[in-house]
Amino acid sequence: MNKIFYKPNIIISKCLNFDNCRFNGDMINDNFLKKLWEFVNYIPVCPEVAIWLWVPRMPLRLVNIDNETRLLQPSSKSDLTDKMDDFSIEFLKKQKNIDGFIMKNRSPSCGIKDVKIYDKEDSHTINTKHSAWIFWKNILEIYNSYPIEDEWRLKNFRLREEFLTKIFCLAEFREISRTKKIVDLTEFQAKNKYLFMFYSQSIQVLLWQILASYNKENIEEIYSYYYKQLLKLFDNPTKIWKMINSLNHIFWYFKDTCSKEEKEFFIETLDVYREWRIPTSSVISILKTWALRDKKEYILKQTILNPFPKELIELSDSWRLLEL
Ligand code: SF4
Repeated sequence: MNKIFYKPNIIISKCLNFDNCRFNGDMINDNFLKKLWEFVNYIPVCPEVAIWLWVPRMPLRLVNIDNETRLLQPSSKSDLTDKMDDFSIEFLKKQKNIDGFIMKNRSPSCGIKDVKIYDKEDSHTINTKHSAWIFWKNILEIYNSYPIEDEWRLKNFRLREEFLTKIFCLAEFREISRTKKIVDLTEFQAKNKYLFMFYSQSIQVLLWQILASYNKENIEEIYSYYYKQLLKLFDNPTKIWKMINSLNHIFWYFKDTCSKEEKEFFIETLDVYREWRIPTSSVISILKTWALRDKKEYILKQTILNPFPKELIELSDSWRLLEL
């Protein structure tokens, strides 16, 4: 059973595998992002080069001035805040059909988390590490609720699987939106039932209600409202209890066909999963094997069983990130 995956459109920091555009002329080689390249459409951007900074260049830094975060280049005494703000708004507004973002970790221009903000232009004192930077802030304003990660956080298998699941689901939604048929949307909703339960059962119910309000005149509104709610659903943090609840619902389909030993094994696996010692894909593969054995077509069609191309399943992990 080969599922077709539509390519998500992903805005990515250009120094991640694309160009030697870092301040010191470096590029970051990231193997996972290289592998992902085959399955997504990347839209690379380097905001610093886009505002006419040279490579190599003296570094920029974020400085807190009068409770406002400014982007400065201390060596040239330039304040690049407004320039960067103008560029990022113009660039982001021009983009169409975006499904997610991958930004460079800790960069003063692209970083989404853990970016140093200094208390003075020339000091070594870090005022805060929480980024509120312009490019990121504008992404949040214009692309509120879209999947956003950085290359470092994607080294954690939990965050990576979540990000991939969301972008491939959003890309499929975009695909069915091209023809806007209610039958496609109903099928989309049905096969994402257990995936959506990972995020929010109440929004999942709301999505069904949106479908139920269909009449021949309102298909455009239905798709548009459904998409907004879908983004809102993915913006909900997954919680292990929600995930286990959803997986248990699938497990229920095999209550009559699994042996006592198989059931015990599954419950033990869930216990390990509860502590995040194995990725979701490990639990899913057990359910998938049973669904294939028992020919459970409804379960086999569920997105949660094939949320993203299998070539992207990786068990490598950075545990440290779970604490962030
Ligand atoms: S982090 Fe962003 S601004 Fe810095 S080099 Fe990479 S793409 Fe350019």
